[in-house]
Amino acid sequence: MTNPSSLLLSKARKVLKNTFGYDEFRLRQEQAITEALENKDALVIMPTGGGKSICYQIPALIRDGACLVISPLISLMKDQVEALRQNGVSAAFLNSSISAAAQRQVEEEFMAGKIKLLYVSPEKLMTRDFFNIMKSSTLNLIAVDEAHCISQWGHDFRPEYTKLKFLKEQFPEVPIMALTATADKATRNDILNQLNISHAQTFLSSFDRPNLSLAVRPAQKRVDAIIDWIKNQPEESGIIYCLSRKSTESLALKLQKQGIDADFYHAGMDPQVKDKVQERFIRDDLKVVCATIAFGMGIDKSNVRWVIHHNLPKNLESYYQEIGRAGRDGVDSKTLLFYSYSDVMQLKQFIEEGEQKQLLEAKLQRMQQFAEATSCRRKLLLSYFGEQLEKDCGNCDICRNPPEFIDGLKLAQMALSAVARTQQKVGTRMLIDILRGSGRNDLFQLGYQNIKTYGIGKEHSYVEWQHYIGQFLNLGLLEIAFDQHNVLRITDLGKKALYGEIEVKISKPETQEQRKQRLTPATPTKKVVQTNALFERLRKLRKQIAEAQGVPAYVVFSDSTLQELSTHKPTTDDELLNISGIGERKAAQYGREFIDEIITFIKEKSLEGEKIKGATHLVTYELIKEGLTPEEIATKRNLNIVTIHSHLATIYEQGKDIDLRQYVSKQELALIFKAIKETGETEKLKPIFDFLDQQVSYDKLRLGLALYKKPTV
Ligand code: ADP
Ligand code: ZN
Repeated sequence: MTNPSSLLLSKARKVLKNTFGYDEFRLRQEQAITEALENKDALVIMPTGGGKSICYQIPALIRDGACLVISPLISLMKDQVEALRQNGVSAAFLNSSISAAAQRQVEEEFMAGKIKLLYVSPEKLMTRDFFNIMKSSTLNLIAVDEAHCISQWGHDFRPEYTKLKFLKEQFPEVPIMALTATADKATRNDILNQLNISHAQTFLSSFDRPNLSLAVRPAQKRVDAIIDWIKNQPEESGIIYCLSRKSTESLALKLQKQGIDADFYHAGMDPQVKDKVQERFIRDDLKVVCATIAFGMGIDKSNVRWVIHHNLPKNLESYYQEIGRAGRDGVDSKTLLFYSYSDVMQLKQFIEEGEQKQLLEAKLQRMQQFAEATSCRRKLLLSYFGEQLEKDCGNCDICRNPPEFIDGLKLAQMALSAVARTQQKVGTRMLIDILRGSGRNDLFQLGYQNIKTYGIGKEHSYVEWQHYIGQFLNLGLLEIAFDQHNVLRITDLGKKALYGEIEVKISKPETQEQRKQRLTPATPTKKVVQTNALFERLRKLRKQIAEAQGVPAYVVFSDSTLQELSTHKPTTDDELLNISGIGERKAAQYGREFIDEIITFIKEKSLEGEKIKGATHLVTYELIKEGLTPEEIATKRNLNIVTIHSHLATIYEQGKDIDLRQYVSKQELALIFKAIKETGETEKLKPIFDFLDQQVSYDKLRLGLALYKKPTV
């Protein structure tokens, strides 16, 4: 007897392939799906882009009845439903953004069993009418998306979500699947308790996002750096997170002046204007958004290729969530954080007095440690989220360019002694100017040119000193008195260094060359968007199709799918279905247009003399269709006639419209067929060639064999 769950699982795989076009499940997807198929409740925790939706979509499609998806993000529903429809799944949504009449229609369709996945807002869910609808329909699963919103501990608490308890009470037989990207324990327990599913299994996938490269650099000259960065990848979408509303505006303006397609977004804008910016970005009509953290929550755009932090985020949770908006499609994407002390100071000032003060300061400190890390940043990041990475990641700036360590005791003593001699009254800037012997006016007015350490550190540049002092702060030799105009103070440990009682190991400042190297992305290990000519053409085609349908481009095909199309260059339906992200529906709907574009491209390139692997026979086919003879094609393409005949056979085998019989005579064909029958050989040409005493040429044999195997009617 077949195990019923293995039967269901093989169905699940079929749906994954046929409907979504994917070959393999990702980490924990399969287990979560099995749980739902076995009618069990589950909590699914995956990072953004981890592939949560498939966990409830596949069970919904396999079983009778419909799946209800509760989501607080109204703005996302439309695109999620559209993405499902593109794959041929009947889906709809209900929330306050659509008219009462439209809602009624959806409800009727739902009750008539015409909808497999229905997305609802919590407000809609709580209405009496909707409760009745639920009671009178067959539900196969209830998915609670963004489930952390239920928790007071979470960062997006939604009071309406706490009322979801009624689901288990009223529908005890329907499995509940809660999904979130927030991993902390308190939130997890809260979700399970609030939903009344404390017995549910938790499916936690890795929080690692190996396709995101990590880099940090000092904040000096960041605008120039940002401009360079964008000009290196002008076609790609990216987000720049800024600390203040004002800086989003001024940065966007500076970028625009450079001819960059940029705009700004923050909570203080007119809602209509704001929505428009978001919409343009989602639809690939705007490349760069300079935004406050208000941006991103309601977007699902999978082809954000890079995220920059113009300022330091206040904690690692925010940082990870924000960089997580890049590369949701799994394609290599870049992130860059600009780091400065003044940001740390400003963030410290934002932290208000109160119960949470210590916690918030500790979190900020971890953020700072990340920015100043001298070992693999991803290790540090993941360990913060409770996950241990065994090896260094190889895809962060530190891994690519590990810093060298030097004995920093002398340097520390210079700095500490200067601080002591100014009675701990100076900030970083003045300290460096003293050490470097600056002629600055106020320095002279204060008489600092007279202290013993004046000019003692001349041979090091300002930037180098900044680096050293950063390290001393990090090591705890110095601290900043935030309540005293940010002057530097010597700590107890600092005193020990001053007296030479401890070792001081610091990283060597980078040379310009090293910094440049560090910031160039690693040699691609995985998928990288290759912006080759074909990719660009397919991207244009995708955009045209998306515009005609009024959907975001990534809903048609993800970047990762486009990329596979441009490398594998499928030219038949079968080949097309082998591309990840193309299921039956999309193949039927867009396949022809993309294949045509690929063939046109191959043809153009071949005629320009470029060799394109795999599809050269199609160029021959195009020329046959234009009325050229095989001999003429051989001359035009500078290829052997044998090759052209072999192309013709392939074209025929692929089921294209071509009459092979005109290229081989009746007599030859009769001989070939007889030889095939006598020898029993249908694969190799050599035995047939020999059997016929080498009387019929190889290229004719190739045509004959094709006709023998697939006779014309
Ligand atoms: P999340 O909701 O967890 O942020 P999504 O469900 O939106 O993530 O999935 C992110 C992307 O990964 C989508 O483009 C989705 O189609 C794709 N994806 C999901 N599962 C797979 C899989 N098994 N193989 C390949 N791609 C997948
Ligand atoms: Zn690393």
